[in-house]
Amino acid sequence: MRAEQLSTQQYREGLLAGSPVVLARAITLVESQLESDQTQANELLESLLLFAGRSARIAISGVPGVGKSTFIESFGKYLTSQQHKVAVLAVDPTSMKTRGSILGDKTRMDELSKDPGAFVRPTATGGHLGGVAGKTRESILLCEAAGYDIIIVETVGVGQSEIAVKGMVDFVLLLMLAGAGDELQGIKKGIIEIADGIAINKADGDNLPMAKRAQADLQHALHLLGHGDTGWTPKVLTCSGVTKTGLDEIWKMIVAFKEQGESNGTWTLNRNRQHQVWMEESLNEIILRESKKYLDPKDGGFSEYPPSAALRLWKEMLARLK
Ligand code: GDP
Repeated sequence: MRAEQLSTQQYREGLLAGSPVVLARAITLVESQLESDQTQANELLESLLLFAGRSARIAISGVPGVGKSTFIESFGKYLTSQQHKVAVLAVDPTSMKTRGSILGDKTRMDELSKDPGAFVRPTATGGHLGGVAGKTRESILLCEAAGYDIIIVETVGVGQSEIAVKGMVDFVLLLMLAGAGDELQGIKKGIIEIADGIAINKADGDNLPMAKRAQADLQHALHLLGHGDTGWTPKVLTCSGVTKTGLDEIWKMIVAFKEQGESNGTWTLNRNRQHQVWMEESLNEIILRESKKYLDPKDGGFSEYPPSAALRLWKEMLARLK
């Protein structure tokens, strides 16, 4: 049964009061495909813009099995113990296979979900961009309005999802495993150029010496590669979500990145870039959606050179707007 509908004002007040229940419902609203819901979601998001942006947005990525959910649970609890309010937009792995949202035998991030300082939202990705949900940006904004100062976006490392998420966050943390051939894979895929920090996970027990070696090798490789125009060389650390080691160092690295970015202007530059990408993607979406309304089924074949058809549709749309 559908819960009683909230007015935009009720959503807004609930969010600004920090209600996790309203936050969960607001995310459902922005994810809804219904046109009436989308209109309300836009109205709500617009009214919240002033309250957005006051967080550190962190993507945590890595291949399935690298230990993302275990790590985020430990890291999230570490952050809430430091009086941070942490929102996690998590991938619901079962949704990728079944398109449903029924969690399997293991409830992910169970402990963190019960923590009053944390909000965990498993998101059905519906196959969108290899693990980044379609409305992640909007969800980030809602979490910020609800007072969360650290937003963690989990993505599954398939290359494409890191690239998509890079345009939404301030810091990309890549989790890797020692000895899995990951070090070289990462370099090959160019993922390392996207990562601002790398943590060799499962650095515990017998794995520890190998993890330390991988750390040194990767750090060396990164120094040789350099890192674009931000002046930041990505750091390589080791950690364990199980023994909860290395969490403090990872947080300190993110804080150092933020401080450096704030002093040299790259933090704001990256935020502006996020807005620009968001606008471009929205524009693409609108054009695609609107052009479908103009598309004549008999033009769907190959009788017309597609770029010419696109230009004709664009001119028709402009003419209607006048
Ligand atoms: P995800 O698929 O990346 O979210 O990975 P999970 O967090 O579900 O972990 C995958 C497997 O690795 C599970 O069997 C975990 O128990 C194990 N694991 C996760 N983190 C660690 C860790 O820090 N050390 C060790 N030794 N095992 C871990």
